[in-house]
Amino acid sequence: MEIYIHLPFCKSKCQYCDFNSYACKDDALIYTYFAALIREIRFAATSYGQSKIDTVYIGGGTPSMLDAGKIKSVCKALKESFDLSAVKEFSIEANPESITEDKLASYSEVGVDRISIGVQSLDDRNLKSVGRLHDSATALEKIKLAGKYFDNVSADVIIGLPYDSAEGISREIGALAPLVKHMSVYQLTLEEGTPLKKRVDEGKVWLPSDDEVADYQLLVTKILGEHGFERYEISNYARQGYASRHNMGYWMGEEYLGFGAGAHSMVRSDGGKRLSAQVRFANPRDLNAYIGGVNCAPAYDKIPRAEMSVQNEREIISERIMLGLRTSKGVDEKLLEGRVPPELEQFFERKAGRASLTPRGMEVMNGILLRIL
Ligand code: SF4
Repeated sequence: MEIYIHLPFCKSKCQYCDFNSYACKDDALIYTYFAALIREIRFAATSYGQSKIDTVYIGGGTPSMLDAGKIKSVCKALKESFDLSAVKEFSIEANPESITEDKLASYSEVGVDRISIGVQSLDDRNLKSVGRLHDSATALEKIKLAGKYFDNVSADVIIGLPYDSAEGISREIGALAPLVKHMSVYQLTLEEGTPLKKRVDEGKVWLPSDDEVADYQLLVTKILGEHGFERYEISNYARQGYASRHNMGYWMGEEYLGFGAGAHSMVRSDGGKRLSAQVRFANPRDLNAYIGGVNCAPAYDKIPRAEMSVQNEREIISERIMLGLRTSKGVDEKLLEGRVPPELEQFFERKAGRASLTPRGMEVMNGILLRIL
């Protein structure tokens, strides 16, 4: 089983962001959020405390903007509530401007062994235009600093930002690759209601076209390949042995518990024997609704959820295919029986009972999924 902890606080909101995160300077609110979070974790132990935990991921928001004592208190609650003796990966997300040597030392002390840094771009014009709080020099400096404490450092990059160009992307990927073991390279999505979407709609900002962005992704794959990275998922690249176990767990259908506002969970009521026993639930995204719900609940199964569904077998198989084909590991071939028309076979590789998409297939994955699901 995997655990995800959501810390939804940021110093300010980035222009493209529609994650469940809040620009928050209210210490009292942060304090009550952590109290509720720890209560939820301790409650969950009564139902799932026997489960062996494989991975822990502390995400956000910006976990590194919080003082290290808060992270410690959550880790203490986790250790007292779950069996963490076999954890294989313990990640935390951080942003360059709030990483300090003291925080890195403290994360390492509580068992974190992987840090994922939100670089997003090494072009200062891009960083400024989307409201990031760091500059490229700080990003490089903090990645190097993180490397003193963690062998497993990952960098997040966004492609499709206003000032991106093939030369710029080559430069930034080439500069980051030698410093990290893992990179997530996401294509910018313009989300409804974000300031960036509004500025683009008003013609105040121009973004690269879809074709240009698709070319950038190919370029990233090529450059990272030259540096020894494998594209093991549509947006993720790793050196051998450094693919994110936590995220692979999501894509491979492992059970997970999410704690915090808006966090999702997926568990199987029979321990995974039958596909049809899969339950998904999610917490309210709103901070006060989450805090109030957890504080009023007398037990874990009484916490009010924003969503709760028992998935049927058809839904679960579609989900397995959809998530599995994102990865180089692919899916059990049997799941695809009778689904792939002959003209689409060219996009599949089949090996040892598993089917995965070829590099070309990955580029056109959405179209393929529409045909086979
Ligand atoms: S730091 Fe991350 S979570 Fe926070 S506003 Fe920016 S993109 Fe969103």
